Amino acid sequence: MEQYLKDEVASRRTFAIISHPDAGKTTITEQLLLFGGAIRQAGTVKGKKTGKFATSDWMEIEKQRGISVTSSVMQFEYKEKKINILDTPGHEDFSEDTYRTLMAVDSAVMVIDSGKGIEPQTKKLFQVCRMRGIPIFTFINKLDRDGKEPLELLEELEEVLEIDSYPMNWPIGMGRGLLGLYDNYNKRIEIHRPEVNGKDNERVVELNAAGEIEGDHPIKKSSLYTQALEDIELLNEAGNAFSEEKIANGELTPVFFGSALTNFGVQTFLDTFLEFAPSPTAHKDTAGEEVDPYTNEFSGFVFKIQANMNPAHRDRIAFIRICSGEFDRGMDVTLARTKKKIKLSNSTQFMAESRETVQRAVAGDIIGLYDTGNFQIGDTIFEGKLNVEFEKLPQFTPELFMKVSAKNVMKQKSFHKGVQQLVQEGAIQLYKTYHTEDYILGAVGQLQFEVFQYRMLHEYNSEVIMTPIGSKIARWIKPEDLDVNMSSSRNLLVRDRYDHPLFLFENQFAMRWFADKYPNVELSSLL
Ligand code: GDP
Repeated sequence: MEQYLKDEVASRRTFAIISHPDAGKTTITEQLLLFGGAIRQAGTVKGKKTGKFATSDWMEIEKQRGISVTSSVMQFEYKEKKINILDTPGHEDFSEDTYRTLMAVDSAVMVIDSGKGIEPQTKKLFQVCRMRGIPIFTFINKLDRDGKEPLELLEELEEVLEIDSYPMNWPIGMGRGLLGLYDNYNKRIEIHRPEVNGKDNERVVELNAAGEIEGDHPIKKSSLYTQALEDIELLNEAGNAFSEEKIANGELTPVFFGSALTNFGVQTFLDTFLEFAPSPTAHKDTAGEEVDPYTNEFSGFVFKIQANMNPAHRDRIAFIRICSGEFDRGMDVTLARTKKKIKLSNSTQFMAESRETVQRAVAGDIIGLYDTGNFQIGDTIFEGKLNVEFEKLPQFTPELFMKVSAKNVMKQKSFHKGVQQLVQEGAIQLYKTYHTEDYILGAVGQLQFEVFQYRMLHEYNSEVIMTPIGSKIARWIKPEDLDVNMSSSRNLLVRDRYDHPLFLFENQFAMRWFADKYPNVELSSLL
């Protein structure tokens, strides 16, 4: 690869922000875009609480500033780094795609509400990042409000998520009493509201060799300052040591405190994050060999397919993480699954393009291709003789289930075709009961069912009846352990599309009861 392209690849930082709804992901994203000059004023990305408007807000920003902003990928430049933030939606938008998006990033930022600590969605998304072993950075938000004690929050991280933590900075007070941040990493104190808490309005005070403010300072008079120093001392003695290697392996999470809403501590976070966040990392192929991102030929994989919900267009967009080389509009690629050649300009179009500057898409970047049915989730495309196929994306254990059937029995054919294709594409998971061959759909988020129903009607002209059977705990068993008598009213025995048997348990209690009764049957969740 030529040097200028190597530099391009090396400048990429591709990450996702994971959090539970309302922790402040939108607010912090907006601050990051502000630093990058991608938007001009805070509050541009609002109206979010109504959910549906978020996408159009981003589109509006895209128009105004000519940056690559879609609801799924935001790209901006900051201090010579090209930053790609991938959205992992919460609320009703949560789906398997949300998990798969984490397969396409090189690191993750976990935003936590200081008043609430670790919440369920954060934990689920964290576990996927954990499985991948990518670096995870923690931002504990809403410091301008009274929340849990910082030490308690660190403890929660270690206990609930079982990850070591290292505080990069430490709050001096919180809520109304927030005086500043003791920036352990940069050896300085960031002053909150300098006009009130600072001396001569200064925003930053350097620390001396002893880690204290030299001489006189109003903050030093506060017991909160003494408290912070004591906490830091305790952490230095009893806490984890800083280790770049552990951060890189996702074994230690650097923790930053701050307030996204009042833009306090966010830029420090971004600057330090960029020091440690990795540039594009190598992805493994099916044989376990790594594909170097600096390889000349282009390669990438599909991690998400978004069906366009606009009835005027039936297009779908396949999101591709570029793993090596450079994308070029109109290039010829091979689809690894079929070995067929595809000319990208004919069937596809580059979506995440800046409107102001012509920009390159290289390893680390995400491109969106208009898809007319060529792609499935997990597909690899490559250029020339590279002949690579990236390892399969993991399947995620569904939690919500629906019985589904065709409304019109005369239209069984289109029903089956639609179900088959949508399942293949990775939009939803399908199970069948053993005796009656009932169809049961599985998903990780409600939206997947809605998309399924909509697409069945509009793309396959098949009206479906869906009957919720609620949330279940799915556990696979070995085919040789299968005994239909194990099925009871508290579990449903089904098989997946590869004919593997699994039980859908009513609840934890039913699962434990089963485990006690059949101690030799191994139950496994796919993840
Ligand atoms: P998301 O659901 O994670 O994207 O959360 P939002 O960014 O929409 O934030 C949820 C709510 O918390 C909004 O009302 C924000 O204004 C508020 N919020 C976000 N960050 C902060 C913060 O640092 N301090 C306070 N007090 N509120 C915040």
